[in-house]
Amino acid sequence: MKLKEVHIYSHDLPVKNGPYTMASGAVWALDTTLVKLVSDTGHVGWGETCPVGPTYAEAHADGARAALKVMAEGLIGAEATPGTLRRKMDTLLTGHNYAKAALDIAAYDLFGKSLGVNVADLLGGAVTDRVPSYYATGVGAPDDIARLAKEKLDEGYPRLQVKVGGRPVEIDIETISKVWEVVKGSGMRLAVDGNRGWTTRDALRVSRELPHVPFIMEQPCNTVQDLEKIRPQVSHGIYMDENSVDLNTVISAAGTGLVDGFGMKVTRIGGLTHMRTFRDICEARNLPHTCDDSWGGDIIAAACTQISATVKPELCEGVWLAAPYIEGNYDAENGIQIVGGHIDRPTGPGLGVTPDEALFGAPVASFGG
Ligand SMILES: [Mg+2]
Repeated sequence: MKLKEVHIYSHDLPVKNGPYTMASGAVWALDTTLVKLVSDTGHVGWGETCPVGPTYAEAHADGARAALKVMAEGLIGAEATPGTLRRKMDTLLTGHNYAKAALDIAAYDLFGKSLGVNVADLLGGAVTDRVPSYYATGVGAPDDIARLAKEKLDEGYPRLQVKVGGRPVEIDIETISKVWEVVKGSGMRLAVDGNRGWTTRDALRVSRELPHVPFIMEQPCNTVQDLEKIRPQVSHGIYMDENSVDLNTVISAAGTGLVDGFGMKVTRIGGLTHMRTFRDICEARNLPHTCDDSWGGDIIAAACTQISATVKPELCEGVWLAAPYIEGNYDAENGIQIVGGHIDRPTGPGLGVTPDEALFGAPVASFGG
């Protein structure tokens, strides 16, 4: 089965009840990029990548499309399997994992559909058809976030991520304290996500002032060096998110015991091929992790859900999706939804979702055919 066509689409996703706030800023709408692969056997696969604005990571929407255009022509005629396309991509462009991820996800969807096999089975096999999600609060006033925590606890979320940073650290400390008063004893797990927004001084202070609150600190500070600095001084677990930009960083962070787990984005690591390796590295070191993406619609959501369903349950910290912030679905029938804090895995061939491509309009670029 050879790759015959590559089509690239741009699609606007307005933030429902926006904006969405993080330490790095607020976003009102996201520009997502979709990729459609067509094989010479007539099978179709979809991929997606959607940076959450230009400042969250070294990624932006126009950059994704530019990188895809650099690679697309060179992929036409290649064997349309995920491993072959992955290696071929690396001969055409160095880096740009977040763009390659869209092609990699599409390759899994295409390969799965051609075989009549679900992507979770291609990734080693699902251990569940219902994966846990977690809710991320956004940076907000302490009482508002505590109210939200109660609401999400009642909805059935097993885990809450409280966003902090970008303001006086005293307000963050008050927010975490008030959330803990609400969720204490419920079994709900707590993550406090600085999105690189704290100084090491702030992180040390929060850990010292809240020794009784069992949260993990997700990417509290900006750099790997910051994490190395606070690591021996804090009593709370540390997860790496934004700094885990590739498999080499993950291997170092896991191998040196720098972190206790990861917040991982499927597109940041480069798609499902690398996510599968990441999953196995974490299992070898008994490190919990999420299977998220920063933003995106049903294609990204399905990719996150499929890989998450293959993670050892004790190590699965859940799947964060942008779905609650997005109006509607690409696939009206099998589109991904969070219900009761959990996500039902679509079990059809490939990713298990089929987008209504009329939503995306004409491709911004097409290759092959
Ligand atoms: Mg995070």
